[in-house]
Amino acid sequence: MTRIAHCSCGSLRAETAGEPIMVGVCHCIACQRRTGAPFGVNVFFSRTQVQTEGDNKVFIRGNSQGRPV
Ligand SMILES: [Zn+2]
Repeated sequence: MTRIAHCSCGSLRAETAGEPIMVGVCHCIACQRRTGAPFGVNVFFSRTQVQTEGDNKVFIRGNSQGRPV
């Protein structure tokens, strides 16, 4: 299955191939701030499954176990 996501202005686009390797729901403070909701839904794909177009940035923070997210 192919999934396509893009930002509101359309300058950044991501296309995935296949099924995600993990889907999770998180209610940590960072996910609440990121989504503006009581929880965030996260879908993870391997790098080889994702192609992006457009300018993008990487934001890294530590999770509750100290690992980079
Ligand atoms: Zn979280």
